[in-house]
Amino acid sequence: MSNWLHEKSWQEAEKAIKDSKGVAIIPVGSIEQHGYHMPLGTDSYVALTLAEDAAKETNAIIVPPLWFGWSPHHMVLPGTITIRPQVLVDYLYDVISSLKEHGLDKFILINGHRIVNITWMQLTAEQAQRELGVTVKIFDPAYMSKDIVNVLGFGPVGHSEEIETSHMMYRYPDMVHLELAKDNPIKPKELYSVDPTYANDTLCYVPSTYEDAKKHAVESGGTTGEPSKSSSEKGKVYHDHLISNLVKVIKNLQG
Ligand SMILES: [Zn+2]
Repeated sequence: MSNWLHEKSWQEAEKAIKDSKGVAIIPVGSIEQHGYHMPLGTDSYVALTLAEDAAKETNAIIVPPLWFGWSPHHMVLPGTITIRPQVLVDYLYDVISSLKEHGLDKFILINGHRIVNITWMQLTAEQAQRELGVTVKIFDPAYMSKDIVNVLGFGPVGHSEEIETSHMMYRYPDMVHLELAKDNPIKPKELYSVDPTYANDTLCYVPSTYEDAKKHAVESGGTTGEPSKSSSEKGKVYHDHLISNLVKVIKNLQG
């Protein structure tokens, strides 16, 4: 049986909640353009595949993912859906609040949507801890992999770049069309980098304006980075590294 909550009957859920030792994982993604070569749901898929593999090793419960994210800067390309940050905070808070009633009191929010998600996930986590008395951790793949991306020869964190593409090639090969990928190398930024492998990372993120995003979309088809450097072998190393870190986070919470 899988660890997904929505695949269980209530009786199965009751037992699974006991077996989980109170730990639930909530994958949080987006539906936004991912260049010529990857699907709109990429950010959600990368979060849910991490949840699935870590849950298998720990009996953590996986909550149905939040497929939508805050993506105003990607609205320039078709298919993108953007949800206001306050809606996301409230939605996630209500999910946590409901699950607390059923005995889940430790939550891990997996961030599939990069830097764009972090602020409102922090707001949710703080509010839930203060008002509901639960524990909330954020698991951010970019930060949790910063010691391995250089080893793998990946460039900086961008969008639909070699990191995300390699991960998708490993877990969802049928959804990646590398032959369509267009490179758009990232120019070094002295300030305002949001790349966690960059020593002077500032985390001062503001999404691009519509005009900038439009220009960028015309030039690159929506990619920032060099997806041509991707491989499923590298994706496996990256994935396994993240799973080992995520399993540690879960086991620490399980006590
Ligand atoms: Zn993405």
